[in-house]
Amino acid sequence: EKNYMKLEFLSKSNNESFARVVVAAFASQLDPTLEELSDIKTAVSEAVTNAIIHGYEYGEGIVIVESRIEGNEIEIIIEDKGMGIVDIDKAREPFYTSKPNLERSGMGFTVMETFMDSLEIESIKGKGTIVRMTK
Ligand code: ATP
Ligand code: MG
Repeated sequence: EKNYMKLEFLSKSNNESFARVVVAAFASQLDPTLEELSDIKTAVSEAVTNAIIHGYEYGEGIVIVESRIEGNEIEIIIEDKGMGIVDIDKAREPFYTSKPNLERSGMGFTVMETFMDSLEIESIKGKGTIVRMTK
């Protein structure tokens, strides 16, 4: 009932679907409902997209996805070593986006918070961001 996996990939937008599918496959050993699996995929998609487009806005880098299963709970960690978030509280606010001119709605963190049971964000400017979620 305990399991662990780690995935590393380059911050290419194509790799978002790759990460989502891998985590969904890993999570499926918990026998989730279709709704639970869909929630996990959506949350992973938002976090990985953030790492790719915000974290590595100024150049490609490595995105790390780790997941742990313990009992009936899954923990998912998405990490980038990109630009970091200066004001995490502000970034978590619904509709806050630093890219209002693009097609961003500022709802990524709100979606993660809604679809998962917990969401923690650690970030250091210039060093990167770690997003930890459980369900
Ligand atoms: P949406 O997710 O709706 O397309 P968004 O990505 O701007 O829009 P959030 O996902 O909620 O909205 O993120 C809010 C803000 O937090 C972003 O606009 C960005 O400034 C910052 N941010 C989020 N993730 C990262 C990251 N990994 N690295 C650096 N900045 C980030
Ligand atoms: Mg986002």
